[in-house]
Amino acid sequence: MAGQKQSALLGHSFQELRVVVEEFGQPDYRARQLFEAIYRQRLATVDQASTLPQSMRERLKSSGLEIGLPKIEKRFESIDGTVRYLILLADGQSVETVWMPEGDGGEAGDGSDSGPEQETASGATFDRATLCVSSQVGCAVNCQFCLTAQLGIKRNLTAGEIVGQVIAVLNDHRVDLERQRMNIVFMGMGEPFLNYENFIKAVRLLVEGVGFSESRMTVSTAGIVPRIEDFGKETIRPKLAISLNASNDEVRERVMPINRKWNLAALLGAARRFPLRNRERLTFEYVLLEGVNDSPQHAREVVSLLQGIRAKVNLIALNSGPGISFNTPSDICVQSFQRLLIEAGIPTFVRRPRGRDIYAACGQLKRTVA
Ligand code: SF4
Repeated sequence: MAGQKQSALLGHSFQELRVVVEEFGQPDYRARQLFEAIYRQRLATVDQASTLPQSMRERLKSSGLEIGLPKIEKRFESIDGTVRYLILLADGQSVETVWMPEGDGGEAGDGSDSGPEQETASGATFDRATLCVSSQVGCAVNCQFCLTAQLGIKRNLTAGEIVGQVIAVLNDHRVDLERQRMNIVFMGMGEPFLNYENFIKAVRLLVEGVGFSESRMTVSTAGIVPRIEDFGKETIRPKLAISLNASNDEVRERVMPINRKWNLAALLGAARRFPLRNRERLTFEYVLLEGVNDSPQHAREVVSLLQGIRAKVNLIALNSGPGISFNTPSDICVQSFQRLLIEAGIPTFVRRPRGRDIYAACGQLKRTVA
């Protein structure tokens, strides 16, 4: 219908699709076919859903229903193979999604069970990759080392917009989830636990619909304590990462103002109570800022904070950017910080910066358009 406003089917659960199908007077099994078309086959339009009768496709469209896959507006490719995507949403807002071939070095992947390699648009090959997905347009948390914070919060993403980023990027790389090992990290723009319902719904759709394994997903929170408690009760849930970034309240308040609401005692209390699965570890992310949180004394404080928690630590040397008033520590400083944690028995990894040249690295997502 000309000028009719379109509604997206992407983001509907199977149960919600059953209601749609029923309203159209179609048999129940059409809901399964529609669910498969949207999530498993990752189709872009209702027209492509060849399992549905033509008449039903026409009726969906004339009622203003479309799959509603978000469009890739721009693509920035780094020399290291990382691709930063600007994804355009229906209301004209945009978010960023990052594709990192072979992971980002901070994942649990050990390089085993590698599948076949596949050629990307740029001609590079990959057999595993990590997608970094956004949960909000902008962010309200205001971490002082993060470029996204400078945008402020514009709005939450819907579950369909979160899943849509993943599908758009998977399709761009023609990924076969049966053959290639994909990880998702919810570490893009926004604080997923401040958009909790939509985030959890997206996780369920990615697992039950698209076919991801929950053990290949990690969500990072700045420390929204009540949602950490809720998250621990979910039957389907990714692994949890906590953005720590300081070893005491004084420093953490300076770099993460949210610490005034939930301080380290509250955060680490929730971390201690978090129900880990067999062999699962809590990840603590720690952005090292020169002269602020990177001394041997800070490392020793981190060790005592994490005592009794089955944890691993990912260290990230600050990825600096315009308007950020901190500096990147030296490699020697990063290595000695890492050594102190490892000597105390905490598995500690230094995350390789990915896509710094295209503003795709951690804390750099700001919809930079050049
Ligand atoms: S680091 Fe994450 S939580 Fe903090 S301001 Fe940036 S996007 Fe928000």
